Amino acid sequence: MSQKTFLIFFGPPGSGKGTQADMLAKKLNLPVVSPGELLRHEEDSNTAIGRKIKPIIDSGKLVPDEIIEKIILKCFKRFDARAGIVFDGYPRKRAQLDFLIKKLEKIAGKPACRQGRQDYVRAILINVSDKEVKRRLGGRRVCDCGAAYHLIYNPPKKSGLCDLCGKKLYIRHDDKPKLIADRLKLYHQKIKPLLDYFEKSDKLIEIDGEQNINQVQNNIIKELAERAMYDNN
Ligand SMILES: [Zn+2]
Repeated sequence: MSQKTFLIFFGPPGSGKGTQADMLAKKLNLPVVSPGELLRHEEDSNTAIGRKIKPIIDSGKLVPDEIIEKIILKCFKRFDARAGIVFDGYPRKRAQLDFLIKKLEKIAGKPACRQGRQDYVRAILINVSDKEVKRRLGGRRVCDCGAAYHLIYNPPKKSGLCDLCGKKLYIRHDDKPKLIADRLKLYHQKIKPLLDYFEKSDKLIEIDGEQNINQVQNNIIKELAERAMYDNN
């Protein structure tokens, strides 16, 4: 691919956007940048940043923006950012978006989101209705042994019991209906200004996420190909 490709994935919890980002990145031969994974990598490698963030993460607090910025910049150096990057889970707010766009414009040497043919940045929104998110997340059941089930997609053989160890299955705290509703509300609040930004400059691609994984992926590729951002050869 001759042109740079920076793709930013958005989608509610349970939309499968991480899976889609990984699948697409593999096909485009681009790295995936996901702050969650980067932070884990820093911790596991016991870097200066890793040691700094460990107590923050352990206490359940959010890692400050300036640290996220540092690891994003580290990433640009580690990968050949000139070719492109697939972003999953970043940016999450307007300040992060402004930071990212500034960096990308510096790499590309031209504006990122003017209307028209400056096509090296796209946002891809995996659209899944709140109702479907509740169905997907609300159906998850887990076991202390690490096994995971879904009442619809991957039910245990005996209702309510783990196939592997026979223990009683339970709902993860985050997956309780009230918590799912809270997560969704927060998601919509935070994501709105970011989506508006890309929509205004006609850089937002919306994909129906309520299809099977391969259909979703094929639709993403089709949309990118129409915008000359995916080479089928
Ligand atoms: Zn079990």
